[in-house]
Amino acid sequence: MLRRSLSTRAASPAASANAHEVIVSGGGLVGGAMIASLQQLRSRLHAEGSKMNFTSSDRSATGTILSSQLARLMLVDSSARPAYDAANMMHTLRTVSITPVSSKILDNLGAWDRLTTKHPYYRMAVRHEQVNSPTLGSGARSSAFFMTSLLGNATSAEPLLEFTDLRKPVGFICFNTELNSCMIDVVEAQQKAAAETEGFHDTLCFNHRLEDVKLPSQGNMDGPWGTAKLVSGDAKADTEFGLILGCEGRGSPLRDVLSTPSLQHDYAQTAFVCDVRVEKVDDGNVCSFQNFFRDGKIIGMLPTSEETANIVFSTTPQHARELMACTHEELVAELNQRLCAFAPNDIPKILEVPQKTTADGSTKRAQGFFPLKLNVATTPYAPRAILLGDAAHSIHPFAGQGLNLGIYDICALTSVLEQAIRSGQDIGSSVAVGQVFAGHMLSHTAPMILGMEMIKKLTYGVPGLSSVGMKALNSLPLVSTVAKDAIMQVSSGAVFASQQKGSFLLQ
Ligand SMILES: Cc1cc2nc3c(=O)[nH]c(=O)nc-3n(C[C@H](O)[C@H](O)[C@H](O)COP(=O)(O)OP(=O)(O)OC[C@H]3O[C@@H](n4cnc5c(N)ncnc54)[C@H](O)[C@@H]3O)c2cc1C
Repeated sequence: MLRRSLSTRAASPAASANAHEVIVSGGGLVGGAMIASLQQLRSRLHAEGSKMNFTSSDRSATGTILSSQLARLMLVDSSARPAYDAANMMHTLRTVSITPVSSKILDNLGAWDRLTTKHPYYRMAVRHEQVNSPTLGSGARSSAFFMTSLLGNATSAEPLLEFTDLRKPVGFICFNTELNSCMIDVVEAQQKAAAETEGFHDTLCFNHRLEDVKLPSQGNMDGPWGTAKLVSGDAKADTEFGLILGCEGRGSPLRDVLSTPSLQHDYAQTAFVCDVRVEKVDDGNVCSFQNFFRDGKIIGMLPTSEETANIVFSTTPQHARELMACTHEELVAELNQRLCAFAPNDIPKILEVPQKTTADGSTKRAQGFFPLKLNVATTPYAPRAILLGDAAHSIHPFAGQGLNLGIYDICALTSVLEQAIRSGQDIGSSVAVGQVFAGHMLSHTAPMILGMEMIKKLTYGVPGLSSVGMKALNSLPLVSTVAKDAIMQVSSGAVFASQQKGSFLLQ
């Protein structure tokens, strides 16, 4: 039965040296983890052959047949190989909040233990600018009188909404560069082991990109392999692939090749990001803070150690430019007014934004900015091509979910590919793989994106109502228990994990 179903799969058409069963284009946080996951799936399938009750020649043939659709893997990234240096302040500038379920997946992929920074936080406190806000003018105060009577004057000191679990972390804050670098370490270690023990040879091409990507036409089910040119500087080499995975982030060129319809929204906001040193607090700095403002600005402070944190301030592009250019004292004062001044007894005071003197004598701060856009591909697949991570769905960072959704993509796609391989389907098939994966992607991204968009619209469009909503959610006993639990189930990834129970990445 196994043999019959395996033999129905389309034979690999490409035996040339430049043919690869799977090319992962983009070796960032999602692409690196995706190729690590494919290497592990291949190893598992290969090992399975040797456990089956066949003669020894059958055994190795079965292991090889199962794993042959993943025989030659290639990673292509247009940047240099990531290498983390803790002393380089730009390497600690970008952070991600990782959910417990994503941390489990990263652990199974072999990257989690390698991280030196994965600062847990046990509490999340959300506030909304209120009538007693330190940033609100007197005109706005009188117009907000009605809100005072509803919410009281102390609302901005007390969190309107709070999630706490002292037994297990709500999430972990990691440095993007370290996570990316550790994941590529894993990929290289697995590449070496696969060559030595299984005879598979993977290729990692940094400072390369693919051009002229051609996919078989839509009607061509399981048809010819795709083709592309692998480019580095002036050098170009023809290559073929059974499946290409677009993990090139929000500017994905493969997305253009697919010309998929997409939901787009320019938030007209820029995320100003910087590192800060904060005063020491009794709890060990294990709370992540988020303050919403009536004009749509959102500031988040994510703890990275007992005395450091990362700021993500979603603001207007003009304001972000001003923050980039202002003096150190002005920046610290503004950040403290947006954070600590709201709740001096809860939100730690910012002491400094680390800076260094460069060779030419000027000072440089650990800061940067990123324009924010919602861009969700509604059909993230085509014959022999799939988009995942930010290439398929880039979202607003306020909920800290972008990478987590990308990690869930990896887990879901790995399961779909495993199922296709076991049932003898071509992994490049848009029916057996692309469509099925898109269904999974939709089920873990759509509720999150819809929820986030609703919160954003409410806090900006109807701030009073959103404040009342947050307060009700936090303090009405039954609503609070049920609704907060439901929010945690979705935002921790627990709902996703319950849908993917069979995945080896979640064992
Ligand atoms: C300010 C901010 C804060 C955030 N905070 C969080 C958070 O707390 N939690 C969270 O889960 N998410 C967060 N996110 C989102 C998260 O950073 C992204 O979802 C995540 O980085 C996406 O990973 P990716 O690998 O898909 O894309 P990227 O990280 O953009 O990686 C893309 C890779 O593709 C490569 N590449 C680009 N073009 C090409 C090409 N033509 N050919 C080959 N390679 C190419 C790049 O070099 C890069 O290595 C945040 C985002 C921002 C902007």
